[in-house]
Amino acid sequence: MAKELSKVYEPQEVESRIYEMWQKGGYFHAERDPKKKPFTIVMPPPNVTGQLHMGHAMDAALQDVLIRFKRMEGYSALWLPGVDHAGIATQIKVEEELRKEGLTRYDLGREKFLEKVWDWKHKYGNRIVEQQKKLGASCDWDRARFTMDEGCSNAVREVFVSLYEKGLIYKGSRIINWCPHCVTALSDAEVEYQDKPGHMWHLRYPLADGSGDVIVATTRPETMLGDTGVAVNPNDERYQNIVGKTCILPLVNKEIPIVADEYVDMEFGTGCVKMTPAHDPNDFEVGLRHNLEVIRVLDDNGKVNEFGGKYQGMDRYEARKAIVADLEEQGYLVKIEDHAHNVGTCYRCHNDVEPIISAQWFVKMQPLAEAALECVNSGATKFVPERFTKTYTNWMENCRDWCISRQLWWGHQIPAWYCADCGHMTVSREDATCCEKCGSKNIARDEDVLDTWFSSALWPFETLGWPDKNAEDFKYFYPTDVLVTGYDIIFFWVARMIFSGCEHTGKPPFHTVLIHGLVRDDKGRKMSKSLGNGIDPLEMIDRFGSDALRMNMVTANSPGNDMRFYVERCEAMRNFANKIWNASRYVLMNLKIEKNELPAMEELELADKWILSKLNTLIAEVTENLDKYELGIAVQKVYDFIWDSYCDWYIELTKARLYSEDEASKTVAQKVLLYVLDQFLKLLHPFMPFLTEEIWQAIPHEGDSIMVQSWPKFREDLCFKTEETAMEAIMNAIRAVRNRRAEMNVPPSKKSTLYVVTGKRDVFEQGAGFITRLAYADQVVVADTAPAGHEDMVSCVTADAEMFIPMNQLVDIEKELERIAKELEKARKNLASIEGKLSNENFVSRAPENVVNAEKEKAEKARALIAQLEEAEKRLKK
Ligand SMILES: [Zn+2]
Ligand SMILES: [Zn+2]
Repeated sequence: MAKELSKVYEPQEVESRIYEMWQKGGYFHAERDPKKKPFTIVMPPPNVTGQLHMGHAMDAALQDVLIRFKRMEGYSALWLPGVDHAGIATQIKVEEELRKEGLTRYDLGREKFLEKVWDWKHKYGNRIVEQQKKLGASCDWDRARFTMDEGCSNAVREVFVSLYEKGLIYKGSRIINWCPHCVTALSDAEVEYQDKPGHMWHLRYPLADGSGDVIVATTRPETMLGDTGVAVNPNDERYQNIVGKTCILPLVNKEIPIVADEYVDMEFGTGCVKMTPAHDPNDFEVGLRHNLEVIRVLDDNGKVNEFGGKYQGMDRYEARKAIVADLEEQGYLVKIEDHAHNVGTCYRCHNDVEPIISAQWFVKMQPLAEAALECVNSGATKFVPERFTKTYTNWMENCRDWCISRQLWWGHQIPAWYCADCGHMTVSREDATCCEKCGSKNIARDEDVLDTWFSSALWPFETLGWPDKNAEDFKYFYPTDVLVTGYDIIFFWVARMIFSGCEHTGKPPFHTVLIHGLVRDDKGRKMSKSLGNGIDPLEMIDRFGSDALRMNMVTANSPGNDMRFYVERCEAMRNFANKIWNASRYVLMNLKIEKNELPAMEELELADKWILSKLNTLIAEVTENLDKYELGIAVQKVYDFIWDSYCDWYIELTKARLYSEDEASKTVAQKVLLYVLDQFLKLLHPFMPFLTEEIWQAIPHEGDSIMVQSWPKFREDLCFKTEETAMEAIMNAIRAVRNRRAEMNVPPSKKSTLYVVTGKRDVFEQGAGFITRLAYADQVVVADTAPAGHEDMVSCVTADAEMFIPMNQLVDIEKELERIAKELEKARKNLASIEGKLSNENFVSRAPENVVNAEKEKAEKARALIAQLEEAEKRLKK
């Protein structure tokens, strides 16, 4: 049954063939099996515009390890894939294509434009999926979903309407973050704050009654066009007498009130603050309390609108210049200070965000946040590593209402219709055909679409058939188990899935959130297009194989921490694959047995018991590490076992038996070699699925694929602690002798007598065969006292034994003395020449100090070498 493996492992050929075999076998498909427990992971849906990058590769590698592990453990393991419609990113892609034809989306109109986007999606939307397959992702592709497919659209509609009916979605005027470049609202999470140098302009507003002025300070002078008041703190002694008065707004020439509000910080600036309720969230709140007018002076493109008088049509930065110049000319500019401040910028285009008052849709967060906090505080959902719990709770405790409307066309259009006759708004699960209040057919649908995250927040249950609470998949697979994602989207996504799950299904959507870090370049920098330091995972797969890339991702990974990507490590992992391949080839070539079965216990020899016992411990530990999501630790243990214990030791230890005439011992060695190989292939499978499958198919086995075999189990009867310790003592002695010989440059062909002095004579007598062969001895003498003349022998020591080798058996003393004499002569000449230089006054006084010092150092080294050689000479002459 054993097959032969080809000489060289070629991942490129093997991987595509095996992936196809898995797909044909239907092994990725998770059945709803009442006899099995479900284990579910929903994949963070990549953007439909996406190209596979290292972040995806990391995400996928971790999820695939967990899902393959659980599948082998006997769970009905579902990894549910899908793609996100990625509102703005996709719309921009299609608009870019249109621009090449000189068109904008407005030329096409909404309907035609959306057709174009769907065309684009059908053409390119599968690219990222094909790339994920190259990674070996064992997703249930039959269940693949898209955030705008029919089911997800139904779920979105249901959630929107039910939240609206509960009063948790409302339409309101609010200060929102607006990107004038992308021409859309941004949620708080989409704003990135940057420290930027700027200025503080101090402006003078004269009191209307002519009794003086107030000085206000601002970082955005152009907003003064929309000022509708000035505020001071009610406890500020300095301004008691002006509260209730009015002042004249310069340039606009309008009277505005002075109000007292606790919000004003007496220590900041002059303690007088200009109020622009339409362009600042705090001013908006103050304005509500004091009934200040709300005048918006910037349009959606960031230009001054019709309320800006002569500045109308100017861009916000252009207007700033003009206004400052005019204020200065008219004597209202008191001073300008440098002032660094924290500016909100758009996460997509990095332009400054403009706070603007706007009618938008919001989700009322407070009641939702309470349940979501409770779910994490009670431990129902845990973060791994634990420290991210705080990131989450901090955000949840302080989050403002979520602005969910976006001024785009691509996305879930808001299900609200406005009546042109009576003004009523109809919000409905079905597309409305008439006004629900007056029955008029003169209605128009809200133009906006929902934030992309509104649909991805429902991902863990909308993909399983919800809102149909009786959907079979939903009943069986929900709640899901683990969510694997980067720390950069805890707010955007994880938090929103948790409160959505709690609110709509009554259950947290998963019990564990496994957080990983970013993949950085080898210097620790973020991979980015502008730096050009990105590494393409597909290129790594082409060069080293998918298994090598996956190993790179997992071995260097500790939860929550960023990792650096070294191409050399992919190479090292490819070498590891080759090492396993070659070891497996060797085992297969020496296999005369047809079946994988353990020999009878009484037939096992010392080395067999040692490797079986080591394997047993490995199984217990790796299983425990994986259960605790310590994937990096788990894989390192498997790696060390295979490389060191199996390939470097066990294969060596059994060689003599494989070539011996003792048929019984030979067969036992073959059986154990095969058994251990089969077991570690299974342990390694989640990490290196392709290589392990290819080898497993070649060794005697039962079943169709390694990926659906049972996970190895710890066995009490395979614990051989005594034999394990004994074998380790022997191995340590062999290592010590080898190291000592290597230090002395003695070739393996030079055999010697080896005296082993130990308190554990039985152990070393049992291991004498191994020691003879692997420590290059021609005979091994085990004793409890040191041999005569041991003072002059080469020696080395371990915890259990001291080893002695007669010097003249390692080196030819006459020849060695000759060699040393020659080297001594050379070294002494060298020293003499250096000393000559250093005693030359001319050289020492004229040469630069560092050159002189370098010579002195050389002399030091030469003296040390001479001392060493003299010492060696003395020893040999004894
Ligand atoms: Zn933008
Ligand atoms: Zn109506």
